[in-house]
Amino acid sequence: MRNSHSEDIVGVRYTGWAALDRDPQEDVVEFVCPHCGNKGVKPARRARSEYHFTDGFLQDMQGEATTCKVCRKALHVAPVVLVHDRDEKQRFEAIFTEEAVAVPN
Ligand SMILES: [Zn+2]
Repeated sequence: MRNSHSEDIVGVRYTGWAALDRDPQEDVVEFVCPHCGNKGVKPARRARSEYHFTDGFLQDMQGEATTCKVCRKALHVAPVVLVHDRDEKQRFEAIFTEEAVAVPN
């Protein structure tokens, strides 16, 4: 594991079914700022081919850098998890929202 000095926060990129309620032109990574709790979005920059299956999800482990628009802190969004349907969305929420409590093995 790399030694991270900047905080890595999980981002999610909804596609396909999971993005049905959104403008199809919009392709964004969603994240929550760990400093101020603001829910932010940034344009997704990386190609799908840079996402790899890890723990049952397509993830970009390198992630993307961004800045919180509210508190202006630099953030590193990694991994970015690609979620494309209802099933994956539920699994994503189950795994990544409980991660702070217990890491499933
Ligand atoms: Zn912030």
